Amino acid sequence: MIKSVKIAVLLGGNLGDTAAIFDRAVEKLRSGGVKSIRRSAVLKNPAVDCVPGTADFLNAALTGIWSGSAGELLALCQRIEREEGRPAEHSSRESRTLDLDLILFGDECIDQMNLKVPHPRARQRKFVLGPLAEIAPDWRFPDSGESVADALKKLEAAECSQTREEAR
Ligand code: AMP
Repeated sequence: MIKSVKIAVLLGGNLGDTAAIFDRAVEKLRSGGVKSIRRSAVLKNPAVDCVPGTADFLNAALTGIWSGSAGELLALCQRIEREEGRPAEHSSRESRTLDLDLILFGDECIDQMNLKVPHPRARQRKFVLGPLAEIAPDWRFPDSGESVADALKKLEAAECSQTREEAR
């Protein structure tokens, strides 16, 4: 029997009409089998780990229910990225129409060549934790047991003390 899993996906993009691209991506996730979708607000964030001068990104998180494997969900996300104009071969340091990252997959930890869940950089990135905390603050990272809201608070506190250090 195929079990249903709660999933979290982060949407990002900085090329084209990103709000419209996000709307289409969500509809395609829905028609591809993701049920009970909840979306966060769309927020603007500076580009992180990109070439200097890269335009700001828009980001949003969604949660939903998926009946299938994590690999199948990643394949759906990658198909949607390509349909929305992102080349199959791409640099993660460049501007892009659409990025769909699988952040959480139920309480599973996955460490495969092409898929790592929880997303390895999720907890270092406010543009992931901020939108996700809006719709799933109590969801716990399966490896650390930390909730999304607590991970966001920790990141904000670390950023704050770094800013204070830099101001000295
Ligand atoms: P990016 O350029 O950030 O979209 O990264 C895409 C690459 O990361 C693809 O080769 C994926 O197979 C790989 N990847 C590993 N873990 C994940 C994940 N949790 N979500 C999305 N892509 C992932």
